[in-house]
Amino acid sequence: MTGGAGFIGSNLIKRLINNGEEVICLDNYFTGRKINISNFIDNQLFELIRHDVTDPIQIEVDRIWHLACPASPIHYQFNPIKTSKTSFLGTFNMLGLAKRVGAKFLMASTSEVYGDPEVHPQTESYKGSVNTFGIRSCYDEGKRIAETLCYDYQRIHNVEIRIARIFNTYGPNMLQDDGRVVSNFINQAFKNEPLTIYGEGTQTRSFCYVDDLVSGLIKLMEGDYKKPVNIGNPEEYRIIDLAEIIKAKINKNLSFVNKPLPKDDPLQRRPNIDLAKKELNWYPLVDLNTGLDKTIKYFKRFYE
Ligand code: NAD
Ligand code: UDP
Repeated sequence: MTGGAGFIGSNLIKRLINNGEEVICLDNYFTGRKINISNFIDNQLFELIRHDVTDPIQIEVDRIWHLACPASPIHYQFNPIKTSKTSFLGTFNMLGLAKRVGAKFLMASTSEVYGDPEVHPQTESYKGSVNTFGIRSCYDEGKRIAETLCYDYQRIHNVEIRIARIFNTYGPNMLQDDGRVVSNFINQAFKNEPLTIYGEGTQTRSFCYVDDLVSGLIKLMEGDYKKPVNIGNPEEYRIIDLAEIIKAKINKNLSFVNKPLPKDDPLQRRPNIDLAKKELNWYPLVDLNTGLDKTIKYFKRFYE
């Protein structure tokens, strides 16, 4: 698994190891942390290698879970050229490995391939509305070329490809300073700081709890479906409403502060998950209320 020390990767490793699978984790620790995987260090099923996926690697594996890539806008915009390089070269190198050893390959793609979508909710057949030269392009276009590479390796080299188009996911093991909205609001609330609403907060997102996402990724890897699949929770919220929910849960006296809306920030986002239901028999089980309680419990330990 590439990016295994990150938020989603570490949750996925936990599930795979609990299922008795052997996992080799590759990570360069850009946004991943050793603490996320420290519980597995003494486990015979687990192996850790510091590795940057922009360099090739030779290793024997039968499955590749390719997650390496910063996911939060502040992190992928920190060094956008490196983000594009990670998406293109990293995916290219890992596909080369998949071809050499005959491994099945799952890529963590994203709802960002739909850009600022004119079609709502987003279905897999929607081709997207992506700015090629904006501040989100390194990530959005990086994931689009990564999908392209995957299917060319499938067509030309018969690599078995699985593509998960992941929508906003939250839960334990996100970084406190991750910059994404759920972790920002929860940590601001614990610090008694105003919740930062970008723009008017009327833009929407749909939030999937990480345990549900992990189940979806495993079903996709295990199944036979070969085209891209949306994995996300279709419950859609305005950002201002998410702020109200978190305020009510942590501290009713909190205030909000409006900050400028980042450039190219999508106005709306919600997955159509009919395909995941039909092809994978997958749908989310954890609602926002329950998922937020678990996430708040995770972050609370840093303030006790
Ligand atoms: P994350 O930032 O917590 O994890 C990414 C991991 O990749 C980190 O451990 C980081 O150190 C590692 N990494 C980054 N560049 C690397 C490189 N060049 N070589 C080796 N390792 C590298 O992010 P996450 O939320 O866990 O996301 C995991 C994957 O899922 C990413 O590919 C992301 O694009 C995708 N995704 C996530 C979401 C979400 O809401 N969390 C949504 C859509 C897609
Ligand atoms: N957002 C916000 N306050 C924050 C962080 C994010 O209002 O402190 C908004 C952001 O502008 C976006 C939404 O919340 O509209 C989701 O942002 P995030 O960075 O979590 O994910 P993405 O934009 O990649 O979906």
